[in-house]
Amino acid sequence: MAKLRCNDYGFECEFIVEGEVERIIEEFGKHSEEEHGIDYPREALMQIILRKSQ
Ligand SMILES: [Zn+2]
Repeated sequence: MAKLRCNDYGFECEFIVEGEVERIIEEFGKHSEEEHGIDYPREALMQIILRKSQ
């Protein structure tokens, strides 16, 4: 289980996604693009999640 908070990236945003890594990448990627206009590359999200969950 991993967790990613939009707030961790400096956004004033309460969005949190947790669960499987694949799900987080998908949900967070969609959220950041739709809400903040930022399209994070899949690899970048993967790196962040892996680093945070260690
Ligand atoms: Zn957000």
